[in-house]
Amino acid sequence: VIRGVRVETLVPARHAVAVEARRGQSITIVDVKGKQVGDLCAVSLSDTSEYMDLTPTRLALSRLQLKEGDELLTNRRRPILRLADDPIGTHDMIFGGCDKYRYEVDFGITGHRNCQDNLLEALNSWVIDETTKQLAVREILNVFINQKLDEHGTFHLLEPVTRAGDSVTFKALIDAIVALSSCPESQSPCNGYKPTEMLIRVE
Ligand SMILES: [Zn+2]
Repeated sequence: VIRGVRVETLVPARHAVAVEARRGQSITIVDVKGKQVGDLCAVSLSDTSEYMDLTPTRLALSRLQLKEGDELLTNRRRPILRLADDPIGTHDMIFGGCDKYRYEVDFGITGHRNCQDNLLEALNSWVIDETTKQLAVREILNVFINQKLDEHGTFHLLEPVTRAGDSVTFKALIDAIVALSSCPESQSPCNGYKPTEMLIRVE
């Protein structure tokens, strides 16, 4: 459990970390080495049955891409995070995160670390209903992922455009637990074939 006014913590490669952010605080995610995707989920601190939910978010935005100033909503359609500062602009709110089945089914690897289990582990320090937790870790924002939509409506997964030190900042609109997984996938361009660490800073 990491709490405090200002917290900066490393999210080791292939692992996740969760932090608490108070309403009004900013949450900055740094790609330390470059070309790394982070899977971000959030749960309300005052009522842990409320979590960031991308389905109402997509409906409210009526867009495939997030833009600076956009609000991410909860399962109760209340804003939980705002995309405050986004110099990179490549994120995804459609594809979800990797789970153990992604590696089993798509790559034939069992027991691979994955964002879903990482986020569940990171959220274990708080008392959150199991069903809510399972839903929250499926409703992730893929920070820095580079999914390009072509003119035929097909997405293409490319390497992230981020370089070492690039960052994105969200603003907490309610008190929240925010969990970030440094995606462990090395089998696709998702993380430039080499998962590395990230950093999360709350201030
Ligand atoms: Zn992942």
